[in-house]
Amino acid sequence: MIVIMKMDRTEQQRDAVFARLKEGGLRGQEISGESRTVIAVLGQVYPELRDDLSVMAGVDDVVRISKPYKLSSREVKPNDTVVKLPYGIQVGGGRPVVMAGPCSIETEDQLWAAARGVHDAGAHVLRGGAFKPRSSPYSFQGLGVPGLKLLRRAGDEFGMPVITELLSERDVEAVAEYSDVLQIGARNTQNFVLLEEAGKTHKPVMLKRALAGTIEEWLLAAEYILNQGNSDLILCERGIRTYETATRNTLDLNAVALVKQLSHLPVISDPSHGTGKWSLVKPMSMASLAVGADGLMIEVHPNPDHALSDGAQSLTPGNFAHLMRECAKVANAIGRPFADRPVPVA
Ligand code: PEP
Ligand code: MN
Repeated sequence: MIVIMKMDRTEQQRDAVFARLKEGGLRGQEISGESRTVIAVLGQVYPELRDDLSVMAGVDDVVRISKPYKLSSREVKPNDTVVKLPYGIQVGGGRPVVMAGPCSIETEDQLWAAARGVHDAGAHVLRGGAFKPRSSPYSFQGLGVPGLKLLRRAGDEFGMPVITELLSERDVEAVAEYSDVLQIGARNTQNFVLLEEAGKTHKPVMLKRALAGTIEEWLLAAEYILNQGNSDLILCERGIRTYETATRNTLDLNAVALVKQLSHLPVISDPSHGTGKWSLVKPMSMASLAVGADGLMIEVHPNPDHALSDGAQSLTPGNFAHLMRECAKVANAIGRPFADRPVPVA
C-alpha cells in the first residue's frame, strides 16, 4: 500500500501518517519522486487501514500495491533510480556504464594489467574478486583483505570506482571500507541476513540474480536491502540455470527488459557469467544494451589461459577493447550512448 501525499502537505501531516502506521504495528518509508511524494507502507496491512489513512489531513490518495515487492516497484516510485558513485559515475541515468576487470584479483601485476586495459578501453568501474565463492573448497578462494587493498589502490591509480563481492557478514566491514560498491553474488541472493547487513552500510550495493531465482524472488531480495533505508541499489542479471548445457548459464534478457518495466532500479547485465564462453560475451553485451540494460559487467584477464578462476569466459584486454567499440555503436544507435569517462579527482 502507498499513501500519496498532497503537494502542499505539511510536515506535521506527514508525521501524523507515520504515527498512525506505527500505532498499527507498521512502518512508513517516504519516497520523493519527481512529481509526488509517497509513503510506502511496510508490514502486514489490515483491511480498514486504507479507509483510516484516506481521511487523514494532507493525504491525497491511498493505493494498494499489486506486487509483493514494494520499495523496488515502479508502482511506488515511477522514476528511474540513479546510483551515484565516486569519480562522477552514475548508474541508471539512461547512459550505460561498463564494469570490468578480473574475476579474481590474483597478483598486483595481473590486476594492474587488467585495470590498465579496461581503463584505456573506456570502462567506467573496476571489478575484481577478493572473496571468491568457489564450488570446490580446493579451488582458489581469493586473496581476501590484501586483495581488497590492491583493488582500492588500482581504482585510485586509474581513477575508477571499484566493485567487489562479499561472501558473508564477516566481510561486510572490510568490503565497505575498501570498495565503492558491495557486490552480492548469485549464491547469496537469498542470504537475507547478509542482505540486511549490506543494506545497513548505506553504501551502494549490486545484487545479482540467484542461480535459479525467479524475477519475483530477486525483487523480494532487493526489498531486504531497500528496507534498511538504503536506496543505492543496482540489480545484475548474470544468467540462470536451465536445461541447456552448451553454455554455462542462460543469460535471461527477458528479465532485463521485464525488470526495467517492473522496477525503477538500474539493471546491469553480466554476459561473462551469463554465457561462460568468452566468444559469446561481445554479442550478448550488444544484445543486453539493445534490450535496455543500464550497463555491463565483463571479466577481463591479461592472460585468460592462466586465470585462477573463470578463464574460459574472460576477455583479453584486446578483445575487451574490441567489445567496447562494437557496443558503443549499439549504444549510440539506440540513443543511449555510454556514460562519460570517470572524472579525475582534482
Ligand atoms: C563473479 O562476479 O565473479 C561471480 C562469482 O559472480 P556470480 O555471483 O554471478 O556467480
Ligand atoms: Mn567470475
